[in-house]
Amino acid sequence: MKDATRLIRAVFPDVAQSKPFLPGPTFAATYHLTGDPGSAPYTYGRFHNPTWTAYENAISDLERASSTIVFASGMAAVAALLGVTLKSGDVLVMPSEGYYSARTLAGGFFANLGVKVRTAPTAGNAQRAHLHGARLLWLETPTNPGLDVCDIALLAEAAHAEGALVVVDNTTPSCLGQQPLSLGADFSLSSDTKITTGHSDITLGHVSVRDTSWGDQLRTWRTQMGSTPGPMEVWLAHRSLATLEVRLERQSRNAGVIAEFLAARPEVRDVRYPGLSSHPGHAIASRQMKFYGPVVSFELAGRDEAQQFLSRGELVFEATSFGGVHTTAERRARWGGDAVPEGFIRMSVGCEDADDLVADLRQSLDKLPPHLGPGKE
Ligand SMILES: *Cc1c(COP(=O)(O)O)cnc(C)c1O
Repeated sequence: MKDATRLIRAVFPDVAQSKPFLPGPTFAATYHLTGDPGSAPYTYGRFHNPTWTAYENAISDLERASSTIVFASGMAAVAALLGVTLKSGDVLVMPSEGYYSARTLAGGFFANLGVKVRTAPTAGNAQRAHLHGARLLWLETPTNPGLDVCDIALLAEAAHAEGALVVVDNTTPSCLGQQPLSLGADFSLSSDTKITTGHSDITLGHVSVRDTSWGDQLRTWRTQMGSTPGPMEVWLAHRSLATLEVRLERQSRNAGVIAEFLAARPEVRDVRYPGLSSHPGHAIASRQMKFYGPVVSFELAGRDEAQQFLSRGELVFEATSFGGVHTTAERRARWGGDAVPEGFIRMSVGCEDADDLVADLRQSLDKLPPHLGPGKE
């Protein structure tokens, strides 16, 4: 079965006479429960919810996972993964330029608990040289915001040879764009706030596992920490999932067109998109990704140029996050924390017509005063 079909079947698995194709959300803090609770599938709202179960089953199908646990946000999923796998004295190998909040949670809270954090760049599979004695290898590919790429299969094999577990933060490609578990990872983690749900209206996250005993531990963590998602959010996510293939296909195609357009502009330097043959990780990306995703990063000459460019967009709106059906961009350095130049822009390409988007980018770039312009002397 091809992915587009698999997705629709995963989203609507139970078709039955006079039943809705997608049952509505179940709102319940408690359930009628008599006698021994052991055999009851649903008892209390923090433990489980049928709307979660339906979404988790759909995601498991797409991730090729044995089990999936949905969380209130991507960071709740990150915290759960680190929390169940690590204890004091363990070595964690992280990407040095990966997602900011994951890096700071590991280097702050978990380092304070006694976890030893080693960092190395994603590009060039540099984390491989730091695996000795490691408990957990954390990969993120392509990285947010720099879109660096590493080889999941190669690094998973090297980590397993050292006895380490492997997690991939799979947020930028989504479970349809890349399947880390099939490439050897033990965990595939995602912020479903982004392309997975794609409508800029909820925060959500998940972890998918190959080994169900890890699934049990993550579920226990969610129950004990209370990092539970609302049923309405999960239902919206499930509904949005139905269009993931259509969105990802269009957004990746548009992003490819825009990356090529930007690469040819004299004001723009260092266009990063894993789908560009000039990207240093392109060969790896083309092997392990089915879609290159909606995010394109590039650099303008400096802070003022980037700010002027962003203020001129008529279709490209300034906002953080990525993956929505509408195009957004931001000057990443405005937040601090990422080692990116002042003129660095992360753009998330939406589902608009590519010609209209290119025309909008052209008019924004054309208006940059020439003395502010060229980065390529
Ligand atoms: C956004 C993001 C997260 C965190 O997800 P939230 O839903 O914002 O909590 C984690 N990893 C990556 C790569 C992200 O882009």
